[in-house]
Amino acid sequence: MCRHLAWLGEPVSPAALMLDPPSGLLVQSYAPRRQKHGLMNADGWGVGFFDGGVPRRWRSAAPLWGDASFASVAPALSSRCVVAAVRSASVGMPVEASASAPFSDGTWLLSHNGLVDRAILPATRDAESTNDSALLAALIFDRGLDALGQTIVAVAADDPNARLNILAANGSRIVATTWGDTLSVLRRDDGVVLASEPYDDDPAWEEIPDRHLVEVADAHVHLTPLKGS
Ligand code: GLN
Repeated sequence: MCRHLAWLGEPVSPAALMLDPPSGLLVQSYAPRRQKHGLMNADGWGVGFFDGGVPRRWRSAAPLWGDASFASVAPALSSRCVVAAVRSASVGMPVEASASAPFSDGTWLLSHNGLVDRAILPATRDAESTNDSALLAALIFDRGLDALGQTIVAVAADDPNARLNILAANGSRIVATTWGDTLSVLRRDDGVVLASEPYDDDPAWEEIPDRHLVEVADAHVHLTPLKGS
């Protein structure tokens, strides 16, 4: 399992989202507050952001708390759309930078918080790694993000134990799902944050119910229930 976060709004630095908040992804990498599966998220991390229309990524197989280079450079970066994650690798999964979210097809940045049986996912040459999250990302990219809800319901039908929280963004939209784990939203004056858990104690954070599709665009947050079997 992991913890992830997405931003859509005015330009912000990844440092302000990930490193500075009292319970941001940096602290969540060793002391998450709401994590139900796994104790810490030390098996890598990643951030992706849109630079104009171009997704750029920085990923690692090491703990976020040890990355002094990222801590130095991140305050100088700025983007209207950011996807970041810290990773707790599931048993048997590789620990390598390419297994860390966000995954990308060149248009979207995508993070998976959860676990899915790799045997029910189609074999593909397009996955960035062999972990479940990379294979699932390749399937979602193949089906298209407009079909994210249907894809998640179909995967869950094939693996009823799967946990399938997805967070994806393309620079102007975020699409996300809750399926088995937590997700909260914070509507700020300058944009919208979606995060596995609140990065501070602002009472404006709202929990998103399980089994929902979340769409964020133009500062609007739209929820749609997902119907599983
Ligand atoms: N199943 C994921 C993996 O090992 C667990 C990490 C996560 O929740 N993204 O890649």
